[in-house]
Amino acid sequence: MPGPGARVSVRAGEWQSSPGNPGHTDHVVVIVSVHESHDPAYAWVYGHGPDCAWESADCTAPFCFEMLIDVDVLATAVAGQRA
Ligand SMILES: [Zn+2]
Repeated sequence: MPGPGARVSVRAGEWQSSPGNPGHTDHVVVIVSVHESHDPAYAWVYGHGPDCAWESADCTAPFCFEMLIDVDVLATAVAGQRA
């Protein structure tokens, strides 16, 4: 699983906003932490958007994304096979 600070790009259909609710947009997530979910195919990912690191973003939350991401996508992101 990706460690803190890893950037993972997910496309529509590779993540869920909540169990059973597939996402319809593309995102880049900067990982804060990854947790098991009820579904072995998906992991809960807490993270920030790529803009949060900007000084002007003023993001002080521990994380601002909470989403279920396909574990195969996470594993492939770690392997560095995706842009
Ligand atoms: Zn943030």
